[in-house]
Amino acid sequence: MKSDIRVCSAWHDVHDRPVYTLSETCPECGADSENTAPAPFDPTDPHGEYRRALKYRNRE
Ligand SMILES: [Zn+2]
Repeated sequence: MKSDIRVCSAWHDVHDRPVYTLSETCPECGADSENTAPAPFDPTDPHGEYRRALKYRNRE
């Protein structure tokens, strides 16, 4: 499911809490906003290598 709700990309630095918006930029500070939807697949998943290793071992 795709979410249209976005959050200020700079809120960590600029705001006390996440600033959510539906626009491309933060309504409070003007910084770019970013999609809040989690990525379906994270290529940098730190556990991915471990899972692949397990799968490989189970096949033997
Ligand atoms: Zn902001």
